[in-house]
Amino acid sequence: MSATKIIHSIPSDPLTGAISVPVYQTSTFIQEAPGVNKGYDYARSNNPTRKVLEDVVAQLEGGDNAFAFATGLAAIDSVLKLLSAGDEIVAVDDIYGGAYRLFTHVYEILGVEIKYVDTTNVENVANAVSTKTKCIWIESPTNPTLKVSDIRAISKIAKSVHAFLVVDNTFASPIAQQPLNLGADIVIHSGTKYIGGHSDLVAGLVVTKDKVFSEKIKFVQNASGGILGPWDCFLTIRGIETLDIRYRKQCENAQKVAEFLVQNDAVSEVYFPGLPTHKNHKIAKQQQSGLFGGIVSFSLKNDTVDAANAFVTATNYFKLAESLGGVKSLLCHPPQMTHASVPREKRIQAGIKDSLIRLSCGIENADDLVQDLAQAFKITEVSPAPFAS
Ligand SMILES: *Cc1c(COP(=O)(O)O)cnc(C)c1O
Repeated sequence: MSATKIIHSIPSDPLTGAISVPVYQTSTFIQEAPGVNKGYDYARSNNPTRKVLEDVVAQLEGGDNAFAFATGLAAIDSVLKLLSAGDEIVAVDDIYGGAYRLFTHVYEILGVEIKYVDTTNVENVANAVSTKTKCIWIESPTNPTLKVSDIRAISKIAKSVHAFLVVDNTFASPIAQQPLNLGADIVIHSGTKYIGGHSDLVAGLVVTKDKVFSEKIKFVQNASGGILGPWDCFLTIRGIETLDIRYRKQCENAQKVAEFLVQNDAVSEVYFPGLPTHKNHKIAKQQQSGLFGGIVSFSLKNDTVDAANAFVTATNYFKLAESLGGVKSLLCHPPQMTHASVPREKRIQAGIKDSLIRLSCGIENADDLVQDLAQAFKITEVSPAPFAS
């Protein structure tokens, strides 16, 4: 969807002509007679501000419908509620830490089985599915090692076993990638990240491909009630107005930052799908319309938590904080922060080294971001371990 279309998909207020979407801060709606209303009866079921956000997000992803939740995890939870005991999920192995916690400590206990595989190799997915598989769950690119999976190929495997495919599209954003057009059935967003874009709210979105999934998610949204409030809906809509220009600038900055890191002696690996050396560069280029995202991860030759700690406290523009996707650059140390709930052994298996650092590039000037990293390397003297092979 073009920037023009995105901006003009946000309607002005038909009642007053207000150019921005009004915040309907109300719990209930007056009825003319029981059951006779203007399409709204109670704010858990529906709210006009939320309706605008949901309609706009459905268009952004080319979906039938979208549903706004209080957080990304509440959105994920609403989809997991479509499963029952005995059903199986085949999931990407370096799944978002919070999703891993929800899968393992809530849904596995309720009897849902989960198999984790490296979905960058489509064969692993084909080998993992069975007649019990109800759902395939991927993120692409993943957090934090930016692995990219072939959505179209995996959607074919899902269809062959009558499972539905969920793609967490938080990192790519709808600007780079539209999974529903590649065969996915459901798209998830943490609206907290690129869609909100200003680090000032938490939100979650589910986008459905067709009426059948729309009805199911709508039912769960109303039955469980984890909705996004009207004020945060308004802020999310405002974020969407600048999503295209922000995301493109973030991609541009990340590319420059990644190219700088590759040249640095203290760095052992750089994870960024926009580098031709990235393992999944080819498929990323194909399915992400030439945009590779604003996240760059890297590990140090001195692969220790101490070295990572020294680095992440030495930057000025990159602020040490969880989360990503905002206009201000952030950095974090996933092993101690976003992925602390994943056991070390599983982290290492998924390629998350002890010194792994994740950068979320904001919309500052690229040169300033590169300079900030350069001075952090200098003052922490994060240099190669003396006897590293
Ligand atoms: C942050 C994030 C989530 C969770 O979203 P919240 O809004 O923090 O609940 C889910 N998936 C990915 C990929 C994320 O980055």
